[in-house]
Amino acid sequence: MAANKKVENLLNQKNIIERELRMIRENCYHTERAIKQVPLGEGCQSSTRWVCEDCSAVVGYPTEYELNKFFKK
Ligand SMILES: [Zn+2]
Repeated sequence: MAANKKVENLLNQKNIIERELRMIRENCYHTERAIKQVPLGEGCQSSTRWVCEDCSAVVGYPTEYELNKFFKK
């Protein structure tokens, strides 16, 4: 419970959104994948990962070879 009502409201919404995202991602087959730069958290640098095009879930780590191909294009 946050003392600030607005913060509490936002945190509640965040929980709802995260739950919904999780459900969508659990039901996704991640068939369309692409290498993308994804932020690893607040204030963190972004990193290169295989990401599902449908649900934006991180589905794997690119190999050295795939990374080279990605950065050269
Ligand atoms: Zn997916």
